[in-house]
Amino acid sequence: MREFKLFVGGEFADAASGQTVESQDPSTGGSIATVALGGAEDIDRAIGAARTAFDEGPWPGMTPAERAGAMRRVYDGIIARQDELVEWETLDSGHTMRMSSLFTIPYGNEYWRHLAELGSRYEYQQSVEPYGFPVEAWDFVQREPFGVCAGIIPWNFPYIMAVWKLAPALITGNTVVLKPALETPVTALILAEIVAEAGIPPGVVNVVPGHGPGAGEVLVADPRVDKVAFTGSTEVGRRIMQLASGTVKKVTLELGGKGPNILLDDADLDIAVPGSLWAVYLHTGQMCEAGTRMFVPSSLYDEVTARLVELAEGMVVGPATDFASDLGPLLNRRQLETVERYVQIGQDEGAKLLTGGERVTPAGGEGGFYFQPTIFGDVDNSMKVAQEEIFGPVLSVIRYDAVEDALRQANDSIYGLSGGVWSRDIPRALALAKRIKAGTVWINDWHMLSPAAPFGGYKQSGVGREFGRWGLDEYLQTKYIRVDQTPTKEQKFWYQILGL
Ligand code: NAP
Ligand code: MG
Repeated sequence: MREFKLFVGGEFADAASGQTVESQDPSTGGSIATVALGGAEDIDRAIGAARTAFDEGPWPGMTPAERAGAMRRVYDGIIARQDELVEWETLDSGHTMRMSSLFTIPYGNEYWRHLAELGSRYEYQQSVEPYGFPVEAWDFVQREPFGVCAGIIPWNFPYIMAVWKLAPALITGNTVVLKPALETPVTALILAEIVAEAGIPPGVVNVVPGHGPGAGEVLVADPRVDKVAFTGSTEVGRRIMQLASGTVKKVTLELGGKGPNILLDDADLDIAVPGSLWAVYLHTGQMCEAGTRMFVPSSLYDEVTARLVELAEGMVVGPATDFASDLGPLLNRRQLETVERYVQIGQDEGAKLLTGGERVTPAGGEGGFYFQPTIFGDVDNSMKVAQEEIFGPVLSVIRYDAVEDALRQANDSIYGLSGGVWSRDIPRALALAKRIKAGTVWINDWHMLSPAAPFGGYKQSGVGREFGRWGLDEYLQTKYIRVDQTPTKEQKFWYQILGL
């Protein structure tokens, strides 16, 4: 079993308490790695290291091109260890091999490469259009790093999320303390090894796995931390906002979702039906931006649900390590029980179970946490299975007659992270997309999030955006600098008012 330590101030170290945890393989329930368990003392040291690296180290003063150069060395290291990252993401978090080798790791790498490159040509000095004060001046805006940034990430996309928190913070000159989810800490710690080998100055990146309510809260509340970037549940997001308010920190939050997926009556069902399963079942539904509520016109309801069921029943549920698996396991027993509970709630509320609803034990997956791809029909948007995040392979299908009615229900949610429309008529789909209250809307697709485009939520799905120039903006303070050009005292504005 491999051992992983904390990464603090450029060094790998045991936790101050000496405690460790074992990380579990969701496919088998077996232990795969021993990981140092960070506590308040370790977080304190990590913040200190990040603070020193920011206040006294070279990183914030380097040119963006120099920082991009250092990040390119990390990228080369990532590429050299890509196969290892694929294997560990699959083992530690249950991403199927097909998913981690084609999607999670390669696109995680792309986010690193693209954001570093984008940040190297970002306009750190921005002009201000002239304003007609009676005195002449040169006005401009300087964008500057915040300082020490805390990154707190969930267990569903451990590698991609680590990259999402590190790359934009680093290229803009910040230093970071990253707290991975304790359930899935491994790939963030491999990334830390790559960072160490690439010669990024010590303390610029620190990675400390630890309990959320312990280590996480200490990190968010510490006055030496200037910004918190959190991805996780809406419930914990509310807590993060409260904790950050003590020192009025900049906060960005990427929270939960209950993505509405509207199928229009002119959709190409050969695409829209499998596409809607892609929308909900990627990573066994453990996705914040999944399309979990599907709106289907009454005229097509029977045909669409029959086709959804047929396709869902043909999906192979199996160990993540098996290339034949379409769906891997859920994260752990708790997640399995949560999904099971929601399936019961849905039935109690009067939704009709069209397929699935049971645990499964695939060959080679004894001890793992598997659940059948599940579809509820006759769902009413007010039911819990349509309002609450289940985070498992459960699709809720809602019938509609008028598109306006589907839209109203689609927007009737505390969430607003993602949405989608399936139609052959692009102008029609676009008109609808503009009225969906969500940070991302896909037309005839799902899950594709360009690193050049902003990602984030409306309503209780979050605050702020990640990626693209919008994402970089969140890691930069905005300073206005005004250089007065009036040559004599008598021409100064103050002279007219105070006579000085
Ligand atoms: P979670 O329970 O909110 O935890 C997320 C992270 O916060 C973990 O690292 C967790 O630590 C930590 N944490 C928990 N309580 C904390 C506290 N009081 N103070 C500081 N940190 C704390 O979410 P999860 O169960 O890991 O992930 C699933 C959720 O994430 C879903 O709601 C999903 O929608 C959301 N999500 C959102 C996005 C997005 O981009 N919008 C992406 C992926 C997932 P430990 O768990 O290690 O204790
Ligand atoms: Mg694990």
